[in-house]
Amino acid sequence: MIGIDERGYYGEFGGAYIPEMLHPNIAELQAEYVGIINEPGFQREFQKLLRDYVGRPSPLYLAERLSEHYQVNIYLKREDLNHTGAHKINNTVGQILLAKKLGKKRIIAETGAGQHGVATATVCALMGMPCVVYMGAVDIKRQAPNVSRMRMLGAEVRPAESGSKTLKDATNEAIRDWINNPVDTHYIIGSVVGPHPYPDMVARFQSVISEEMKWQLEEQTGKPNPDAVVACVGGGSNAAGAYYHYLNEKGVRLIAVEAAGKGVHSGESAATSVLGTRGIIHGSRTLLMQTKDGQIVEPYSLSAGLDYPGIGPMHAHLIASKRAEPISITDEDALRAAYFLSRKEGIIPALETFHALAALEVMAYQPSDVVVICLSGRGDKDLATFIQHFDDYNR
Ligand SMILES: *Cc1c(COP(=O)(O)O)cnc(C)c1O
Repeated sequence: MIGIDERGYYGEFGGAYIPEMLHPNIAELQAEYVGIINEPGFQREFQKLLRDYVGRPSPLYLAERLSEHYQVNIYLKREDLNHTGAHKINNTVGQILLAKKLGKKRIIAETGAGQHGVATATVCALMGMPCVVYMGAVDIKRQAPNVSRMRMLGAEVRPAESGSKTLKDATNEAIRDWINNPVDTHYIIGSVVGPHPYPDMVARFQSVISEEMKWQLEEQTGKPNPDAVVACVGGGSNAAGAYYHYLNEKGVRLIAVEAAGKGVHSGESAATSVLGTRGIIHGSRTLLMQTKDGQIVEPYSLSAGLDYPGIGPMHAHLIASKRAEPISITDEDALRAAYFLSRKEGIIPALETFHALAALEVMAYQPSDVVVICLSGRGDKDLATFIQHFDDYNR
């Protein structure tokens, strides 16, 4: 069985490696989260917001032209159609309800591509709570539309100026804030990373993705299980949600697609499952990109949502135990998939998501297979990047 144990481990990965000052916050979450999430009142409120505010269920769409091209049955799980444009909102709705139950008055978050920041700023506006979002200074530049969105929603965006000025640096700043404001503040982590119970808590909130996939597939194909589920992996939350109800269904292949940047071994990539070794990052034991003496290697990807030097402990376990198959996709191949899907299906997903689509070029399958791809988000935020490279792919 694949699942988390009582100490917060998936196999050898996970746990809670945190500074002393954070112990009360983490202990409170560990003691309360399952009970709160399972309360009927909490579930009613959560389900109602997912339906009426987020717009769930998200469609499961048989992409006929794409299927014809690849000679396999491709279904797209349309998380790009959620309010705020990605899967991130499933988790932030859940966590803000949880923060309210815990009596918290202030929310902090970190963000890479800005999608989690927007999703957090959105639910803070909805609940009338003050919101501070930490974001790498480099990401602030390359994701300008999302920065404007967060400000419009009333959030304060604080730049992280250290290191590579990207997601991992923003995460460090958020942790520092939480240490300084332990009583009134809840930290909404945006992926299945961080100390226990975050990976499991976020996976539970995102599990609505595969819960819907099961009945949607049953309706459309007569069977609840596909042959393969494909998702891109930054920290791993859209993948965790898309895999969740299939984790222990051996007949369902789980394909985890990572960003290879300029090439897995180019020195500029974020392919953690290939390059990662065991270590501790942001509170959990997992696979991460590090030098022999434990310095974190700066990750790189054209997509700001995938350039994280680690992966969540669930994914580390899935990969180490060979339950999931990792695939690495370069910037170039992701961009090619971007133009291809846009022209084939009239859908422009996010750069992160295009990595998952590009996996169709390399993964093995039979013509009769049903393959579900988690379309994690929409591409509005990436239009400037697409246009910048437009001529390279449209000669
Ligand atoms: C944030 C993001 C990702 C990567 O995060 P995961 O936690 O791995 O899902 C992927 N796609 C989109 C659209 C995102 O916004």
